[in-house]
Amino acid sequence: MTYIITDPCIGTCDTACVEVCPVDCIHGPDDPEGSGEEAKAADFDATSKQLFINPEECIDCGACEPECPVDAIYDEDETPEEYEPSIAHNYKFFGQDPPS
Ligand code: SF4
Ligand code: SF4
Repeated sequence: MTYIITDPCIGTCDTACVEVCPVDCIHGPDDPEGSGEEAKAADFDATSKQLFINPEECIDCGACEPECPVDAIYDEDETPEEYEPSIAHNYKFFGQDPPS
């Protein structure tokens, strides 16, 4: 199980979730394998990007969910229907097969 970042992150992407994740499994488009530091960098263009959660590394702790100012983060099983495509986006960003 994992948490998922959905469309509302796009254009906000303030990295608040990165700051609280205990396993550094939230990454930006510049560094899918890194520690999340790229999203904390001063030159990170937060307005035109979104972050993703690595499903294989997320420990399902839920710490990120209340930190998001735009309610973009959901438990995978509770992702609203309108954001279901985001589930596959999170998996594919890390080269993983989304659940069928
Ligand atoms: S649920 Fe916990 S481990 Fe998973 S992305 Fe959020 S803060 Fe990180
Ligand atoms: S806290 Fe929400 S808006 Fe900010 S980067 Fe994380 S998912 Fe995106």
